[in-house]
Amino acid sequence: MTVIDVILPFAVEGSFTYRLPESCEYCPQSGQRVLVPLGKKKIVTGIVESVRESGENEDTNVYREAVRFPEDFPIVTSQQMRLWKWMASYYMCTLGEVMRAALPATLRVDKGLKPRKKSESVVETRLAHPLNEEQLRAKNEIENAWNKTPTVLLFGVTSSGKTEVYIHLAQEQIRQGGKVLYLVPEIALTTQLTDRLRSVFGERLGVYHSRFTDREREEIYKNVLSGHKYDVVIGVRSSLFLPFRNLGLVIVDEEHDTSYKQQDPAPRYHARTTAQMLASLFGAKTLLGTATPAVETYYNALNGKYGLVEMKQRYAGLKLPAIHLLDLQRAYKQKKMEGHFSLPLVVRIQEQLDAGKQVLLFQNRRGYNSYIECPECGYIPKCINCDISLTEHKPVAPDMPSRLVCHYCGYSIPAPAVCPECGKGVPVDRGFGTEKIEEEAQQLFPDARVARMDTDTTHGKDAHEKLIRRFADHEIDILVGTQMITKGLHFKDVSLVAILKADAMLNLPDFRAYERGYQILEQVSGRAGRAGTEGHVILQTSDVENPLFAYLKQHNYEAMYAEQVEQRKAFRYPPFYRLIGLTMRHREQSRLETASRTLQDRLKHVFGARCSAVIVPAVGRVQNLYIRQLTLKIEATASYAKAKEMLAREIEYVKTLPPCKGTLMTLDVDPM
Ligand SMILES: [Zn+2]
Ligand SMILES: [Zn+2]
Repeated sequence: MTVIDVILPFAVEGSFTYRLPESCEYCPQSGQRVLVPLGKKKIVTGIVESVRESGENEDTNVYREAVRFPEDFPIVTSQQMRLWKWMASYYMCTLGEVMRAALPATLRVDKGLKPRKKSESVVETRLAHPLNEEQLRAKNEIENAWNKTPTVLLFGVTSSGKTEVYIHLAQEQIRQGGKVLYLVPEIALTTQLTDRLRSVFGERLGVYHSRFTDREREEIYKNVLSGHKYDVVIGVRSSLFLPFRNLGLVIVDEEHDTSYKQQDPAPRYHARTTAQMLASLFGAKTLLGTATPAVETYYNALNGKYGLVEMKQRYAGLKLPAIHLLDLQRAYKQKKMEGHFSLPLVVRIQEQLDAGKQVLLFQNRRGYNSYIECPECGYIPKCINCDISLTEHKPVAPDMPSRLVCHYCGYSIPAPAVCPECGKGVPVDRGFGTEKIEEEAQQLFPDARVARMDTDTTHGKDAHEKLIRRFADHEIDILVGTQMITKGLHFKDVSLVAILKADAMLNLPDFRAYERGYQILEQVSGRAGRAGTEGHVILQTSDVENPLFAYLKQHNYEAMYAEQVEQRKAFRYPPFYRLIGLTMRHREQSRLETASRTLQDRLKHVFGARCSAVIVPAVGRVQNLYIRQLTLKIEATASYAKAKEMLAREIEYVKTLPPCKGTLMTLDVDPM
């Protein structure tokens, strides 16, 4: 008897097998959608994983009958199916979780699709800008390097004109009949880039990102499935899940960016790794581009796993911005501070404003670590559900009270007028978030038009786009922002970039903190001095002796890398070791202690020193769930698959023990 194994969009292990509907007159194919009964009353949409004859000892009577197939053609291609299976196995999750991430929500409900007619493909050959000598050399070197290895790193300083190189490579690919996927880390980047790509590829460009509605995403999915509509798709990491045909080139722009890693929910994948797997399924090429490579990427490039092509000159003879350090400790001692601004910085900003220039102020904090405190008794209001202090948010209207908000769970209360603890003090904001900086900047420069760009101000679908356009049109003089403003934006009138406190991000308890600090500061510096104006960067810090700043002043990535790679080796981190993070959560602290310690003991037995001790994370309780963590470090030379198999077995075992019951376990392969 013919039966079908079906993938359902849940985090449940194992396959779901069904019989074909009585009425079915044809044999379905893998990748087709199918409606199947589940439980007593539910009908759910799944994807046919495989169609097969039942085994000799298989009792087909226990299988229920599938309801029907909404279409008679697959909506998941064979390459996608292989990618899903690779992701489930590599990132230790279920196929159902991959399916949930991969398909637009509207394709996960019952509604038939019509196959797309072959529309006449109108080939629009518009001209890209001609490449200069340096860009042409890079393009040729990339093509040569691809003859040796499918992945190439283009390491080009900020403003070296990498985008034009990508465009020419894409055009070449299209001429050969291949399709191109152009990945960008975040939606904020797509605005300016999309305009540029649109001017070259016209209607043959598809755009895919998470701010689109499900309906819009479905439309693009269908267009890609048809194989005729687009030559180039630009999108964020989820566009890796589109049903490409004839994919010839995958570009991963700003490959070092942490937004390429999906944190929650599963699959917790990295788009750079997944892009290379996707490309290999098509025999396609991958190009990683950045001014500040991830340490792992540069390591692979130096060791021949990837090709390496460099661009050391800024476009049109621009100089790299000059970086000036400003000693905060001294400024505080000499009382030369206005809020968080040192007086020399205030003077420099005023000069720029007087000259009709724009200023970017960078503060790598939206709100957390920002808190309020009673000056009398030291009381700090905390969240009732999480072990974290609340952050003050200014009112939307001036006559409304401020609110204190938990950034982890959203819990909020009105800000108290007097301290609820001692009844005497008036709690004050000790914070140092973007909101505070915006407020101070407006007070210091009352005539300037000040705006803020962070996740709080860019909620709406077009909010970030409008903000960027307003800044580009010079309707804003000072833009205060988080990391979001570092990402490849080009503004012609920005002559000064100031980093208000560079230390905080270097002191995080994370082995990547130093690397990331360098990347963020170099990228944000790169926003200064484009299109004919010499750029200046002022970096306020309490730690002027930190060697990182010396590297930064020389734009010396290689020196930063050399130092980091030694440390990674000594302390057993990537690229020499691979990490798997394990997070355990439980409502009851005692059960969590038992479960985490039991698992730790078993893992120590299997993995020895490769398993860390159980730790309590910095925020040890979120939404009333207590949290414990463990990390495995596996030698890069050992079998990763085997280690994962052994780990999965131990977890399954511990889950079945009665005292550990109800412990939630999440795995993060290659955590960031
Ligand atoms: Zn108090
Ligand atoms: Zn909370």
